Amino acid sequence: MAILHSNKANKTKKFQLKDTYDTPLFGNKEMDITLPKNIIGQDSVSPEVAYRLIKDELMDEGNARLNLATFCQTFMEPEATKLMAESFEKNAIDKSEYPQTTELENRCVSIIANLWNAQPDENYLGTSTIGSSEACMLGGMAMKFRWRAAAQARGLDLTKQKPNLIISSGYQVCWEKFCVYWDIEMRCVPLDEQHLSLDTTKVLDYVDDYTIGIVGILGLTYTGKFDDIVALNSIVEKYNQRHEHQLAIHVDAASGGLYTPFVNPELEWDFRLKNVVSINASGHKYGLVYPGVGWVLWRDEVYLPDELIFSVSYLGGELPTMAINFSHSASHLIGQYYNFLRFGYNGYKAIHERTKDVAQYLAKSIELTGLFEIYNDATNLPIVCWCMKENTGKQWDLYDLADRLLIHGWQIPAYPLPANLEEVIIQRMVIRADLSMDMAELLVRDFNEAIEQLDKAHYLVSGGENKHTKPSGFTH
Ligand SMILES: *Cc1c(COP(=O)(O)O)cnc(C)c1O
Repeated sequence: MAILHSNKANKTKKFQLKDTYDTPLFGNKEMDITLPKNIIGQDSVSPEVAYRLIKDELMDEGNARLNLATFCQTFMEPEATKLMAESFEKNAIDKSEYPQTTELENRCVSIIANLWNAQPDENYLGTSTIGSSEACMLGGMAMKFRWRAAAQARGLDLTKQKPNLIISSGYQVCWEKFCVYWDIEMRCVPLDEQHLSLDTTKVLDYVDDYTIGIVGILGLTYTGKFDDIVALNSIVEKYNQRHEHQLAIHVDAASGGLYTPFVNPELEWDFRLKNVVSINASGHKYGLVYPGVGWVLWRDEVYLPDELIFSVSYLGGELPTMAINFSHSASHLIGQYYNFLRFGYNGYKAIHERTKDVAQYLAKSIELTGLFEIYNDATNLPIVCWCMKENTGKQWDLYDLADRLLIHGWQIPAYPLPANLEEVIIQRMVIRADLSMDMAELLVRDFNEAIEQLDKAHYLVSGGENKHTKPSGFTH
């Protein structure tokens, strides 16, 4: 073998230090390098070594499937992954080079429009996006442009104040971004103990001629609760009948949009409601695709102002597109189409209902400890969240419980509720399709054991009375 071991040789004959094909990976000299952090490395390394070194660096990030903090999909079938890996090079924006990919995207839009009860006498329109954030931006921009055109026509002084958007304070951060980026005043209807989702009785207090629209949320990120879109729709309908200024509703259905149509199809929240003009959902949440795909649809083309539509050439013709991003891989929307084809309506229904069973079992088990008040028992979405009952006499809190569970690999975060309710600390589990009942039983075992251990722990508290100061350690 041509491998030289002496240090001297190492220095002087650097370029002869070639490992051969039978050198074991972990005996390979290339494994001795530290990875480039600020400056690109000088020499190449073999693909096996590059793969192994990077894979190993990522090793301690935990097991995504035990991460019950995320709504994002953590499992897809090998055939889906294969298909997606084989289509990484397809650029979703390049409609003329990839017309069949475009066709698959259009099929997805139609399938989703149908799931959201698009009305036969209207011409729905929609697009894939990178996720709900991009989708919400597009939905919000359409509302802003439409409002502006109508306001101008009515002779409203557009310089007098900023346009505003109304949403509950349980909004996801993308709406704050939307308002900052597009210079819109965000008007938040606060949550309170009686209203853990949008308080529809208060919405109109926030409306004026500068309101571009109201966002209803089908699945608050904090708690999984649904805004009452039916009530919102009737309030908006009454307003619209009395005013020239017309209000529109955008439903942020990031998590509910591809869950509810399968599990509670009778629940009205979508295009069956007249004033819901646009809806977004994340394909990578309950659409069951890996992170990187979202959807936004308008019930009719009149709700998407022309200025927001750009034409790209497609099969010798022109195709309307709207997107904030330009180039990105089409593999995720192909993955979405795979899931629609592969699972069908009944498959999605079966998967989501089973997920719901698991979530309800977990909610029951957590309630059985007697220590927690359940905020959401998976009624709408398979999300369980709870706060600690008062007077449990426990010396530990939900942050400690989250820490304890992490020892078993479970990521189940504790955090404060949004503005006005920030005193309430809750803990939340997002149950996804890949958490089986068997895994859930193990989770309950770990959960109960964590409580037992915390009860027996001797805290070494640093920082005295401050209730947000975490114990600096414990023994048991
Ligand atoms: C997750 C979420 C978003 C953002 O979605 P991405 O797909 O991650 O961009 C927006 N709104 C709500 C209600 C969400 O739950």
